[in-house]
Amino acid sequence: MKYYSTNNPGIQVSLEEAVVKGLADDKGLFMPEKIKKLPDEFFETIGTLSFQEIALEVAKAFFDEDIEVDALEKIVNDTLNFDTPLVKVEKDIYSLELFHGPTLAFKDIGARFMSRVLAYFIQKQAKNELVNVLVATSGDTGSAVANGFLGVEGIHVYVLYPKGKVSKIQESQFTTLGKNITALEVDGTFDDCQRLVKTAFLDKELNEKMRLTSANSINVARFLPQAFYYFYAYSQLRSMNPKLGIDELETVICVPSGNFGNITAGLFAKKMGLPVKRFIAANNRNDIFLKYLQTGTYTPKPSVVTIANAMDVGDPSNFVRILDLYNHSHAEIAAEISGVSYTDEEIADGIRACLSKNSYLLDPHGACGYLALKEGLTEDEKGIFLETAHPAKFAETVEEIIGKKVEIPQKLQKFMKGKKQSIELGADFDGFKEFLMGR
Ligand SMILES: *Cc1c(COP(=O)(O)O)cnc(C)c1O
Repeated sequence: MKYYSTNNPGIQVSLEEAVVKGLADDKGLFMPEKIKKLPDEFFETIGTLSFQEIALEVAKAFFDEDIEVDALEKIVNDTLNFDTPLVKVEKDIYSLELFHGPTLAFKDIGARFMSRVLAYFIQKQAKNELVNVLVATSGDTGSAVANGFLGVEGIHVYVLYPKGKVSKIQESQFTTLGKNITALEVDGTFDDCQRLVKTAFLDKELNEKMRLTSANSINVARFLPQAFYYFYAYSQLRSMNPKLGIDELETVICVPSGNFGNITAGLFAKKMGLPVKRFIAANNRNDIFLKYLQTGTYTPKPSVVTIANAMDVGDPSNFVRILDLYNHSHAEIAAEISGVSYTDEEIADGIRACLSKNSYLLDPHGACGYLALKEGLTEDEKGIFLETAHPAKFAETVEEIIGKKVEIPQKLQKFMKGKKQSIELGADFDGFKEFLMGR
């Protein structure tokens, strides 16, 4: 299957090239040329299938021309070796818990899948040359990528992060791993880290010496696997409501959104035939998408800091994919997706309300999803919100809101007990380049 650029459908590349490049030469995002509809029988029997079985069917629809089915099955099974259970929170509201992976957030799934797809292509190329992944992080992406790529043969990962500007929990998730993961502690800001990475990709001498690639969230191999769990969520909802027929189940899916990759994968799932009635994009105060829905004009803004900080995005990169999916029609987009935006106070109130009513502790991102369903669900609808991270990942914030300690899961405790290993660097490119050249 070919992948085209959102900036120019005439630019078409193979899956391999799309994965290795990440971004098209004209800076557009790659889109698959076809979105195959899955057969009716698949949806009739979906309630009897496991997460891995469902994911394989979805993965085949995109990747079976480019990755042999055996290898694809191995990649899927290896990526999804943890569950994403649907939990009933209260009447008609369900939480899809996407936080049971290694770093307790949904980005684990895309990062793991991408690492294995990249490894598959590297092995096929048989060049016997190490591929170096450079990733700049303000916290969450670095941990997902580092853990997703941990131990993957033929790939070395360099995580660049701003010294003193990520939480201890986050830092421990990518500085304690060792093996093929190197953490670079940059004396600067996140923007400095991003600039270093971008400059490295453009540096001729460096690229002649070593193979560099990114593990950006816009990469198709990170983005598309996010469609898997929408199907699995629906299958669980069907099983939990056995009396409702396929046509009676009115499913609304609400996605806490920042760069809009997660929700766009859900829109792909719907195009593949998943019977979702409508989507809600839940935002914090960074409400650029909501403003677009209201006015028809997209106006990026600098992001503002909120307590749901993984959604502090002022210019969501996947917005162009949504435009492309709906032929740039504002009417079509607004018919499919509605938007909401919450202040920090509203998010905090939502966490407290859900805890006291349901004894269910939300993280600040999932709380936006919960609130939107509370507010927007009609009589006959059933709502699923994506719980994108475990509340313990944001322990300090959540503890302050609920006035109680949050239990830290074993997995997180293990990271926090590990020994920090990082290499300190300045924010100037020359120092970074010299470091890489010396590897
Ligand atoms: C990345 C992230 C989001 C936003 O997902 P997008 O795909 O960027 O919209 C939401 N919640 C958490 C916890 C995240 O880490």
